[in-house]
Amino acid sequence: MTNQSENSDLMSKIFALAKRRGFIYPGSEIYGGLAGTWDYGPLGVELKNNIKREFWKSMVYARDDVVGIDAAILMNPKAWEASGHVKAFTDPLIECKICHQRYRADHTEEIEVHEAGHTSEVSSIGSKAHLGGEQMWTEPKQFNLLVEAKLGVVEDARQKVYLRGEITQGVHVNFKNVLDSTRVAIPFGIAQIGKAFRNEITPGNFTFRSREFEQMELQFYVKPEGKESKKWYEYWKEERMKWYLSLGMTKKNLRFRRHEEGERAHYAKDAWDIEYDSPFSAKGGSVSGRGWKEFEGIHNRGDWDLSQHQKHSGEDMSYFDAWSNKHYLPYIIETSGGVDRAALFFLIDAYREEKDRVILKLHPKLAPYKVAVFPLLANKSDLVKKARQIYSQLTINHLLQPVAWDDRGNIGKRYLAQDEAGTPYCITIDFDTLKNDSVTIRDRDTTKQKRIKTSKIAEEISSKLS
Ligand SMILES: [Zn+2]
Repeated sequence: MTNQSENSDLMSKIFALAKRRGFIYPGSEIYGGLAGTWDYGPLGVELKNNIKREFWKSMVYARDDVVGIDAAILMNPKAWEASGHVKAFTDPLIECKICHQRYRADHTEEIEVHEAGHTSEVSSIGSKAHLGGEQMWTEPKQFNLLVEAKLGVVEDARQKVYLRGEITQGVHVNFKNVLDSTRVAIPFGIAQIGKAFRNEITPGNFTFRSREFEQMELQFYVKPEGKESKKWYEYWKEERMKWYLSLGMTKKNLRFRRHEEGERAHYAKDAWDIEYDSPFSAKGGSVSGRGWKEFEGIHNRGDWDLSQHQKHSGEDMSYFDAWSNKHYLPYIIETSGGVDRAALFFLIDAYREEKDRVILKLHPKLAPYKVAVFPLLANKSDLVKKARQIYSQLTINHLLQPVAWDDRGNIGKRYLAQDEAGTPYCITIDFDTLKNDSVTIRDRDTTKQKRIKTSKIAEEISSKLS
């Protein structure tokens, strides 16, 4: 059984490991940071790239009904008026009248914690007078989450633009371009991975709620019929859940949750989230407890986006169906996942403590390093030379990039360092290697070692990657 302090303890351990080993650093740290931004280090960028690569492989390369695009982060602001974001992409904001901290009015747990803080404060100085019967919070007002920027070279005539609040619209505005330049036919999808920006009122829980983040999405266009869209909706829900399971996420830590009527985004006809049983609640860093947290949403957007863009741009966004000889605006089934949230939950899910070691049991496909190579002794030049040879062969010929290299300290310590980085295999080059061209290969999860021929190393590792 885990309790609250163990959960908050786990988060501090993940946070510390992420920084110590180069997964994730606080953004612009030497300047005191910038709230809601994070930088990915040498291991973090590999983890994130691996997540994105696996997404692309399963959503684009493995299918003949999905193509990919990469749209610009900056768009004509009219696109955001059309999509409803300028008007409706808002969170209700309230302000504490005592200390002027701002919160999302719907984040009730955070608000309770804040109130409790003031209550204990004032009772400790013996007066609740200034709280009195007076309302502690301002009335909620709608706060727009779009991040604004200014573009142009003439100071007075600089145009206000938005950093995209979701990557979705870049796909929909290109619906016609993709139809005209490829051979896709409905039902088909367009996948995209990229950064989005939101002026979150209270960023927090490590990388979970950030102001700059990356999304991986599919917009899947189907016939505008209830039955057809429902069929594809169910299909994509299951596919996305399967994807996380196939990459090793623990089944009991995942669930589907349907959005309540009033909770859905302005465009959504139906919305389900895939949630992770996270070691943090809405209460944030100071108070902890487990809480289910969204990291991928599957939405039926209906024809909202295309009809809005058609109306605002004046361009015909309809699809011509050659079978029925009809024009129509297709419905859109969207799967929208957070790359940073997935990375965080893969890290949390993979974290294990054993008697004398910490392991990240990341799926080999996601592990930053697939293999580490060690010469038994750093001061024996023939061992080092042989180890270097094996290292380059793995790196160059077998594209197991990047391969870790470590010749510091004793072998035991090197194993521990790789366990903590999630490296599934370690290869040690010893004196027998020089005699019979064999190495020991050690498995991260079992710590078992076996001896194999050097020519079999790549094969052995690749078998675990397919
Ligand atoms: Zn306050």
